[in-house]
Amino acid sequence: MAHVWGGIIREYLDRMPFDEGDRIVSLGEGGTPLVHAPSISSEVGAEVFVKVEGMNPTGSFKDRGMTSAITQVVKDGDHTVVCASTGNTSASAAAYAAHAGLRCVVMIPQGKIAAGKMAQAIVHGADLVQVDGNFDECLDIVRELSENYPIALVNSVNPYRLQGQKTGAFEIVDQLGDAPDIHMLPVGNAGNISAYWMGFTEYAEAGIASRTPRIWGVQAAGAAPFVAGHPIKDPETVATAIRIGKPASWDLAINARDESGGWIRAVSDEQILHAQARLAADVGVFVEPASAAPIAGLLAAAALGEVPRGATITCTVTGNGLKDTATALGGREVEPTVIPVDVEAAAAALGL
Ligand SMILES: *Cc1c(COP(=O)(O)O)cnc(C)c1O
Repeated sequence: MAHVWGGIIREYLDRMPFDEGDRIVSLGEGGTPLVHAPSISSEVGAEVFVKVEGMNPTGSFKDRGMTSAITQVVKDGDHTVVCASTGNTSASAAAYAAHAGLRCVVMIPQGKIAAGKMAQAIVHGADLVQVDGNFDECLDIVRELSENYPIALVNSVNPYRLQGQKTGAFEIVDQLGDAPDIHMLPVGNAGNISAYWMGFTEYAEAGIASRTPRIWGVQAAGAAPFVAGHPIKDPETVATAIRIGKPASWDLAINARDESGGWIRAVSDEQILHAQARLAADVGVFVEPASAAPIAGLLAAAALGEVPRGATITCTVTGNGLKDTATALGGREVEPTVIPVDVEAAAAALGL
């Protein structure tokens, strides 16, 4: 009989902070495909795979962290959750809170959130508050709210989020049979880079992987505090999911970078959009702009001759392209050729 995926907490229960008897809040997250990218592999001279996190229930990796964060909230007996979000955390929190019967409050930066993500928070019944400020300012507000009111914070400063997100690294090792040489991912608030490093380290210590990968993190040039070495006041990028100037998991991310022997670099919005189009057209994977940052970073590293020949490289592509079709189409009008109901006309239109 085929194995039926039980969501990341059930699948990795012995490595999660929960027990058999806990009421697990899951939408079946995780178990996402690791897809080989042949054309990118041959361009960079390595074996490149993308971990397609847009396949999660709400379309981003945030679901891995949300199943564990919300499971703990229910265990603690809390009734309301709050988060600041550039869009995907709120979409995920709203869905998992709905499933668990909790109230969900989300703070989003005004005008800087993709339409699909906004729709998700609304249809899942979250209370939406737009803040006339950026993500970092939203996070300051919700941190204080959660300290002073009976509301549980489900941003990645909540340690249960990282516990769930580390399973992305477990899955990659399980899928490849060992750790890759290099793992790449976009870096925004820096929870995920920290979680992946935890996951890879944990598997290596348990002897399930023979080694840990180097971690190559990629930021958007207009929102690259790790590259600058200090917080950025007014972060700006088309990749709204990583439009963050003051990452909460600063020290953990620096540790992941340095302990793994990796780096964190920046790419331009133009490089991000090019990589997004490339992934869609050449690999068949439609991701949102932030998710294309590691591919852009990989292509840039290859152009500098810095990609080890034949290395196995995995890239977490973090969110689904359907969340933000406006950016992907770049303002292009969609105008397909119109033909009458006629096979000859169809053949003519196709140049057959
Ligand atoms: C949240 C998010 C990121 C950034 O992850 P961090 O853990 O904040 O660094 C990147 N891409 C997408 C699509 C996201 O939703």
